[in-house]
Amino acid sequence: MKRPALIAFFLLSFLLFSPSLADASLKLFVDDVEVALQRDLVMINGNYMIPLWVFAEHLGAQVQVDQSHLQIVFPDQTIQMQLGAEFALVDGKEYKLEVAPQLLDGEIIVPLRFMADQRHLSLTYIQELNGFRLSRKAPRFSGLGSLLSGEGLGAPTEGGEAQPVGSEREEKEPGASVVLYEPSTERGLKEIAFLGGPRATIFLDLESYTGYQTYLLEHPARLVIDLYGVNGDPPPALEVDSPVVSSIRASRFDEQTLRVVCDLQAPTGYQVLPAPEGGLTIEFNYQLTALQLEEVEGNLVLSFASSAAPEVHTTYLQNPLRLVLDFQDTTLMTRSFDLTVNLGPVVRFRAGQHSPSVTRVVLELSEPLASLPIEERAAGSFIVPLFQGTASDLAAYLRTQQDQRSGGEGTELLPVQEGVLSGLVIAVDPGHGGSDPGTIGYRGTFEKDVNLAISLYLGELLSEAGAKVVYTRDSDVYVSIFRRPEIALEAQADLFVSIHVNSHIERGRARGTETLYRAGDPISERFARIVQDELVKAITLIDRRIWGRNDLAVFNGSDIPSILVEVGFLDHPDEEVLLRAPGFQEAAAQGIFNGIVRFYLENKR
Ligand SMILES: [Zn+2]
Repeated sequence: MKRPALIAFFLLSFLLFSPSLADASLKLFVDDVEVALQRDLVMINGNYMIPLWVFAEHLGAQVQVDQSHLQIVFPDQTIQMQLGAEFALVDGKEYKLEVAPQLLDGEIIVPLRFMADQRHLSLTYIQELNGFRLSRKAPRFSGLGSLLSGEGLGAPTEGGEAQPVGSEREEKEPGASVVLYEPSTERGLKEIAFLGGPRATIFLDLESYTGYQTYLLEHPARLVIDLYGVNGDPPPALEVDSPVVSSIRASRFDEQTLRVVCDLQAPTGYQVLPAPEGGLTIEFNYQLTALQLEEVEGNLVLSFASSAAPEVHTTYLQNPLRLVLDFQDTTLMTRSFDLTVNLGPVVRFRAGQHSPSVTRVVLELSEPLASLPIEERAAGSFIVPLFQGTASDLAAYLRTQQDQRSGGEGTELLPVQEGVLSGLVIAVDPGHGGSDPGTIGYRGTFEKDVNLAISLYLGELLSEAGAKVVYTRDSDVYVSIFRRPEIALEAQADLFVSIHVNSHIERGRARGTETLYRAGDPISERFARIVQDELVKAITLIDRRIWGRNDLAVFNGSDIPSILVEVGFLDHPDEEVLLRAPGFQEAAAQGIFNGIVRFYLENKR
């Protein structure tokens, strides 16, 4: 993007000189030919990217690059894209892209899943080869593990159902029964259980699976979950009476894939969480309706209807002064709005879906206003009482009320732990980054991404508890292991916590949690013991204990009490599923946080 004039040159050079084989960890095959990748396949926003030259070299395209415009011409199809633009034209028809084509180190990369779909290529991950295969032939059901894990490989393009493997099945609707296998009495998916509750929770009782992919579709609204590596007959469909889900049905999609479709009353956000004892839990968002600002007995309240009270995160912002309420795991079922109100100190009142899981309500103010914990007025009807004054006025007020306050759940305005770490500076060190991906999981997950996600959750918790957080990196960049302790020293950090996930020489052989500490340093050792203890309690993986190390640059570069947490094994297939799940990442961050707080409280003064 920054040097468009050079693009054509780079591309030309790749076409002229066949790229040399590099040590790409994840391989790519076109039919049976291995593509000589220059560098590792990168994943952006959960989408694997493929170098554009592969289409010219291996798939019969003529590729033209004019400034930022890419034209990929096949004998039967022309695909146009633009660097940095999240759309593509396929024979003139527009498609939305999950991730824009981009220039990375002189190489143009485009989304792999999208290109495979458009070219009717089957895309298969082959475990034995640790790589993806693009195949022009209809897939043979050879029994090789076909697996496109997690949310990793993108969503179907606009209006279309997912077509995970090849053109042969294009005309099949989800729910159609497709006999591509010998029926067996064994069921990979033992049962679909509707657990209900405020979030219409569904549990898929799975014997085992190698991956899954989800698609939220509209018209009609439904959530499709493709379960990979699941054999056997589908369990019977389930009619449910819930405000979110109306029915759940399963069908065989191909020999390797079982498709579960949840018919929804309306499109809504959701979370898929691998259950620690196996299987998958699907939780839908709370449904927020009837959002209003009202005056009740002279007091201003924000009222809403929902199946239960969601968690609300509150933020104050200046210029203009406003109170921001983020309803977690919530879908706004009304249209978004922006109203001028002039009710008490509230000048404007607006609401919208900030992200798939967060509904954001903003009150623009002429004077300070703070929110109190949610109260339930009647079944399914809630209020957020609003307090005229600053947050610290409210804090003082709440402290006097604290004893009467029972529960107080549903708001994190004044977490119990607030300020417990005040005055402490904590260096959070997400391992690897940028050109250094760290360990690469069984399904292609990069360690650097897992480390960063857990670190950012941890940093949030530490900040909320009053600590000053210094990250050695807070984005996907390379930072040397020698620079990392320097950053902590420059910030005068009191503690140094490095976050990693593990691998074993014999891939897939080891599992569990361990924490390393600076060998011979009793404070670091005590710190490691407590964090290990709390982390294992929080995520319940195998306790591999703590280990002193004298050979790690991040320990040797400072004298700050330092630990390195190896949360789990990314090269173990079960643990990889967990490590890539946001819910698990948050739980891990919470466990490490609990350990830091306990260590601090037990060792301060
Ligand atoms: Zn690492």
